[in-house]
Order: sequence, then structure tokens, then C-alpha cells
Amino acid sequence: MDENRLIGVRDPHGFRPLILGRHPHGWILASETPALDTVGADTVREISPGEMVIIDKAGVRSTQPFSGDVNPSFCSFEFVYFARPDGRLGGQGVHGARRRMGMHLATQAPVDADLVVPVPESGIPGAQGYAQQSGIPYGDAFVKNRYIGRTFMAPTQELRENAVRMKLNPVAENVAGQRLVVVEDSIVRATTLRETLRMLRRADAAELHLRILSPPYRWPCFFGMDTSDRSKLIAANRTVEEIRQYLDVDSLAYLELDRMLTAIGNAPRTFCTACLTGDYPIPVDINNGKHVLEGR
Ligand code: SF4
Repeated sequence: MDENRLIGVRDPHGFRPLILGRHPHGWILASETPALDTVGADTVREISPGEMVIIDKAGVRSTQPFSGDVNPSFCSFEFVYFARPDGRLGGQGVHGARRRMGMHLATQAPVDADLVVPVPESGIPGAQGYAQQSGIPYGDAFVKNRYIGRTFMAPTQELRENAVRMKLNPVAENVAGQRLVVVEDSIVRATTLRETLRMLRRADAAELHLRILSPPYRWPCFFGMDTSDRSKLIAANRTVEEIRQYLDVDSLAYLELDRMLTAIGNAPRTFCTACLTGDYPIPVDINNGKHVLEGR
């Protein structure tokens, strides 16, 4: 922006969302609708893939600078993990999508258990959906310390494990002797999750049945998600059974891709699923560093 104009551009694939909002004192561009709610602005619409908006005293003008190259491939992982659950994408509520993923998971991978618990906080809507569909009560296995940041940002394994222990503490009465369905949105490196599950074992959980709201995350993202190269993605290097053993759980199931996309519903119909399928919407050399496209 400069003194007179605010310009916003969404890439021709529309990997990431961009939202136009209206505030009594002006226009706003943001990645998520909760940013608009927070400042008391109304959501006007999403900027389309490949669209540029120029905002000045005359209002909002839309142009299409990429005309022939527009090929929508919206990041399906926004619905699984990135986006705030109180947001809306493509006209669809994110919380509702995650809840439906949990319901599909209960149908696809049922289990006899006493309690459905989320890994806080990302697994909460999915665990609610699993509980609703299965009829198994929903509860909390952890209390979360609100003042600890995201653990996958910690630079070493040891720091990450320490951070998990500082961040989560088991609720003993909900865990000891209980057969738990533990719901999480995804597994990328599995280091944090392994430590989280260990805490439930140490708190004497009788059984742990891990349910994941997305298929195995096997391929690196070149489009804005910082998830390391393939050597660090556990599902790129181990089978589901090997991951189950590594995490020391009694059973493990990932939501099937078709069910995940069905749960997302009528949001943008053309999704990127490359990290789950290896089917990249842009040719990439997966041996390159993940920032290669940004560098270019
Ligand atoms: S590769 Fe995965 S995380 Fe990256 S844009 Fe595609 S769906 Fe999203």
C-alpha cells in the first residue's frame, strides 16, 4: 500500500485465502474472517484466485492480471489444521468441516471405548464429531497452559518435548483406567504427538486409539506450509502400522481422502491435496528445498 491505495493480490492457484472486509472507517484485507470479526468489520467476500483488488477513495476495483493462468487449487489443509475454527472459507465454516471429519472418522474407524478426547486444541471439533457419531461420551484428557507457544516452532527435539510437558497436563480422573479415543487433526513429524500420548500412558490410560482427521501427510508443501522435507515426515518413511508402534497406541486410523473432502463440503471444489497424495498442482522437484518456489 501507499498513501492513497491498498492493493491485494491472490495467487492464480488460490492456495491461501484472502478476504475483503468493510469497516466503518475503511476497507480491510485479511487471510481469515476472524481477523475482521476482531476489529468489528464485516466480511464482504473472498478475493478470487488470480484476482487483484485496488482500493482507494473511489472504492474497490477488481482486475484479473493472470487471466489465462488461473487454476484454483485451494489448500485443503486450511480446513484440517491452518485456519482458525471460527473462520469461514469458501462459504463454509471451518469448525463444522472438522466436526464432520470426526463424524466420518467414527463411521470409518469405529472402536469400543469409554471416552473421546481431543489433542488440544486442534483436535477439539473432530473429537466432538467423533463422539456425536459414535455415541461415546466426549471429555478432556488434558488441561492446556495458555501461555506456551506452538511447540513445533521449538528448534530442538528436547526443547519440543519439554514444551509439550509445560503445555499440557493430563486430567487423571478422565484418563486412568479409561479406554480413550484420541482425536488429532494430522501427524506431520509425530514428535510432539508421541510425547503427548506418552503422558496419557503415564497417567494409566487403559487403551489409546488414535484417530486422525486427514490421510497420512507424506509429501512436503511448497506453497506456504513449513513442514520440513520428506526425511522428517513420519508417514513418508513408515507404514501406518510402523507409526502405530512408534506412537505406542493400541490402534491408529487416518481419515480417507474422499471422506475428508466430503466433510469439507461445498467450499472451493478444486483442492490442493499434494501433501497427502503427491499430486502437485504445479510441477515441483521434491528434492529441492521447500522454499525454492518462494526464491524464484
Ligand atoms: S501441499 Fe498440502 S499444505 Fe501445501 S497447499 Fe497443498 S494441501 Fe495445502
